Amino acid sequence: MKVLVINAGSSSLKYQLLDMDTEKVLAKGLAERIGIDGSNVSYQPAEGEKIVVEEPLKDHKDALDIIIEKLTDPKVGVIENIEEIDAVGHRTVHGGEEFAHSVLIDDAVIKTLEEVSELAPLHNPANLTGIRAMEEILPDVPQVAVFDTAFHQTMPEESYLYAIPYEYYEKYKVRRYGFHGTSHDFVSKHAAELVGKDRKDLKIIVCHLGNGASISAVRNGECVDTSMGMTPLEGLIMGTRSGDIDPAIIEYICNKEGLTVEEVNAVLNKKSGVLGLSNHLSSDFRDLDEAAQGGNEYAKLALDTYCYRVAKYIGAYAMAMQGVDIIAFTAGCGENNYAVRAGVCEYLKYLGVVVNDEKLHIRGEDLIVSEPESSVTVMIVPTNEELSIARQTMEVIK
Ligand code: AMP
Repeated sequence: MKVLVINAGSSSLKYQLLDMDTEKVLAKGLAERIGIDGSNVSYQPAEGEKIVVEEPLKDHKDALDIIIEKLTDPKVGVIENIEEIDAVGHRTVHGGEEFAHSVLIDDAVIKTLEEVSELAPLHNPANLTGIRAMEEILPDVPQVAVFDTAFHQTMPEESYLYAIPYEYYEKYKVRRYGFHGTSHDFVSKHAAELVGKDRKDLKIIVCHLGNGASISAVRNGECVDTSMGMTPLEGLIMGTRSGDIDPAIIEYICNKEGLTVEEVNAVLNKKSGVLGLSNHLSSDFRDLDEAAQGGNEYAKLALDTYCYRVAKYIGAYAMAMQGVDIIAFTAGCGENNYAVRAGVCEYLKYLGVVVNDEKLHIRGEDLIVSEPESSVTVMIVPTNEELSIARQTMEVIK
């Protein structure tokens, strides 16, 4: 069985074709600058050179046409014809309260997705564009929507409700939804496998520390709390997003700087986080590490504040679950960044966590970094959202 995974953004489209008998990636790539000058599509077969096609792409369908052409190309392709594609899995950002699981896409699902788009105006319309384009190209192939929010739908009311008038929840569905669900699901499952236990018997905290960052508490296989909220702005400090702030700051900055609410919202999303804290030095942790080592005080402040926030959430989630068996680091920083992992683990000593500093330096592989006497098993688990989407797609079409 072969599954094509599509992650459509507003002007980009990432894809991977996976052979689900072996779970190996057959080919992958990225279409960029869709609808903008200078667009291109990259195509990388598992065994072969990367190819970049530079062609105008007026929409996502143009990009997908090129992708299908390359996948089936007699010379560089990895399948003979499009009939070999058994299903398409679409990363879909917001499923609202309507979708607690992945679903087979039909007209009713598309209608609900359109309604939910109000909650994720930057993401869901782009996801829908990818779905519609794919339906045109492969009308007879099952298409599955896999939601970033679905894994978090098990959260109890006390985790997902905000303390604002209840009618805003009833009328407008204002609540915590949480994101990165496919990653939190994949990593918590794999973390349990690494200690040879069932996820149903464990309390796991997953720290997804990428450019976007979120943390989740997974008790007995179900998410009970997560740091991102109604939108991906809440919670941890991120590359460019502020994470938690006092909501009154928005009005205050509007008045002081003469900005509109939309403009301050853009500042919180695009100019804050470690970028803002480092005095606009960088949102990339590699730059910040280097600058901090060179004595840059802003970079050091950004890193320290970042680690503190992660540790604070771990403390809260250990309390929320009444214990924690595993803390798993994942995504760009979680998988690769020694300084961040070491900075967070320093706080965890209080919990009785003992880590091996040499192992904390190792990058990008499944690895238990705590010592046997540690009260909590700390590990690095590289995430694989595409594989998670492909697996969920298989479950739906079965
Ligand atoms: P992601 O969004 O998961 O791709 O994560 C991106 C973040 O991971 C960026 O801030 C990178 O600086 C960070 N990152 C990736 N590789 C490394 C590395 N080798 N060392 C430090 N940070 C890294």
